[in-house]
Amino acid sequence: MNLSHIRGVVFDFDGTLAPNLDLPEMRRQVIELSARAGVPGDVVEDLFIIEIIEAATAWLARCNTSQATAFHQQAHDHISNFELEAASRVEPFPEVRQLLSQLRDRHIRTAVVTRNCEQAVRNTFPDIDGYLDLVLARDNVEHYKPDPRHLIQALAGLGTDPATSLMIGDGRMDMQLGQQLGLTCVGVLTGSHQEDVLIAAGADIVLEHVRDLGRRLVPC
Ligand SMILES: [Mg+2]
Repeated sequence: MNLSHIRGVVFDFDGTLAPNLDLPEMRRQVIELSARAGVPGDVVEDLFIIEIIEAATAWLARCNTSQATAFHQQAHDHISNFELEAASRVEPFPEVRQLLSQLRDRHIRTAVVTRNCEQAVRNTFPDIDGYLDLVLARDNVEHYKPDPRHLIQALAGLGTDPATSLMIGDGRMDMQLGQQLGLTCVGVLTGSHQEDVLIAAGADIVLEHVRDLGRRLVPC
């Protein structure tokens, strides 16, 4: 697939530019918190982590607003602490900075769109503003992925169109979101999902590692 038309690249963060969070463990802990608060399991099953907190909070709020507020705060503090602790132990994948510099040299605009919190992203990648044009973490936006407005906001910030933009990520959600908005979708195998899952979710290309994008976007 020819990528010479690409003018903007939107990156997922965890599992794409840096080692993945242990999302199954984070999810297990949030479910445990909600169960301890008295929320039935079927209220939160099949949901993503933040959506579990929202659903459990809504369920609790039907009977006890103050308990719901306390749970919401406790659960958000818990996931932020989880993210910050993980961020303190990792750094961007090798060659990520070189890749981003190459893209900048080619005047390709770049953004991160992540459900992680901004502080965790910056702890992992302290000099990120020197390499990327835009960082949109969970706490920087009102609507985060899989809500398409997260990606729409990123494209608006970059000033690029879906037709000339590329979404790259390790997760099914990234591929589905990119495809939904008409971006070229590139999966990477350094995070949550394998090639078959990424292709089924809409990946046009699957790469072993994000650094391989450089060879596809920047001709020798
Ligand atoms: Mg990811």
